[in-house]
Amino acid sequence: MAKEEKEIKCSFCGRTKKDSEILIAGITGHICNHCVAQAQTIVRDEISQRTNASVFSGIHLLKPIEIKKHLDEYIIGQDEAKKTISVAVYNHYKRLMQASSKTAVKDDIEIEKSNVIMVGETGTGKTLLARTIAKILNVPFCIADATVLTEAGYVGEDVESILARLLQAAEYDVTAAERGIVFIDEIDKIARKSDNPSITRDVSGEGVQQGLLKLLEGSVVGVPPQGGRKHPEQKLVQVNTKNILFICGGAFDGIVRHIGNRLNTKAIGYSVNKEDNVDRENLLQYISPQDIKSFGLIPELIGRLPVLTYLNPLDADTLRRILSEPKNALIKQYTYLFEMDGVKITFEKGVLDLIVEKALEFKLGARGLRSICEAIMTDLMFETPSEEGVKSVNVTLRYAKDKLKKSTLNKLKVA
Ligand code: ADP
Repeated sequence: MAKEEKEIKCSFCGRTKKDSEILIAGITGHICNHCVAQAQTIVRDEISQRTNASVFSGIHLLKPIEIKKHLDEYIIGQDEAKKTISVAVYNHYKRLMQASSKTAVKDDIEIEKSNVIMVGETGTGKTLLARTIAKILNVPFCIADATVLTEAGYVGEDVESILARLLQAAEYDVTAAERGIVFIDEIDKIARKSDNPSITRDVSGEGVQQGLLKLLEGSVVGVPPQGGRKHPEQKLVQVNTKNILFICGGAFDGIVRHIGNRLNTKAIGYSVNKEDNVDRENLLQYISPQDIKSFGLIPELIGRLPVLTYLNPLDADTLRRILSEPKNALIKQYTYLFEMDGVKITFEKGVLDLIVEKALEFKLGARGLRSICEAIMTDLMFETPSEEGVKSVNVTLRYAKDKLKKSTLNKLKVA
């Protein structure tokens, strides 16, 4: 009897030592492993609810000028795009604030979504812009490729798979995902082939565009958490896309022709005078929703991407700056990598110009810079760490030229 009285039990559920794997002793009681697990779930849910509420209303909303300043640290040039996106993002998150603080709502004014579409050659910084914005705001971010999306029933991925990726990025925190940013790349690749839908209906492209509509406009979508195709037995996670910011990007090869045509028509229609002040060297700056429509995006989709902006092709000067100026510029990264081995690396005058020259030749925008640098630097990075006593390395123009000649880089060249 005396023995039974002494038997220790969990002070929360009453389980005896025998019924639980672990009983932890406190000052006046005990707690078993089952109750610890349960308490942990309660605490996590409670904290997550509170943080969600506070993060939602307390997003650190930078002003557009501040957002652009941050963007300037990572992205060289592209001032117009940076400005437009800074404003779009600012307004988007103001919209979120409005939704979460009822007092601020003016009943009849509803701020619309400011989804963005960016037009610009490959490697000009579209993805980098979207990614950097998400980083600044500290919201979940994912990249989806429009080319792998197909209409339901065809081989490929459902449009909902985009949200599966966002969920993964948000570590399956649905509330966090619901205020994230999605970058849809290669949106131009799902354009229908003809401006006139009645002549040649490009079913797959147009079907995907239709599928995207409901995502962009804001609706509750059943998402297969692991991505891929939906199937009947799969449990779907409901995600509301109302507050997800969609940024689409595409090269829209040949769109300048549409812009040129439109401007010309206008010039003829409105004035016979050729003094129209049009900068024919960079027609992209005049891009309008009409041109995107002529290219083959359906008007409904264009309507849901109200912020349109463009990225300039990168010239030699910009590429040169990209190599060394941004916060994580390639040259800064190499310098740091060598520094970690106690080696100071310097580049002879002309090496950076050579890299830029090659990048322009390969027509890959800034994307080519990395491969060119690697071709020059790989042997040095392979050998230097094992060379005793080496405190500095100077990359000469001759060395760089030699490495490039021996590399397989010419395969990068775009015809
Ligand atoms: P896009 O999406 O337009 O094809 P990315 O944003 O993926 O191009 O750019 C490819 C790489 O080139 C990026 O990782 C980035 O390092 C670099 N880059 C491109 N444009 C810029 C820029 N304007 N400023 C700084 N880096 C850039």
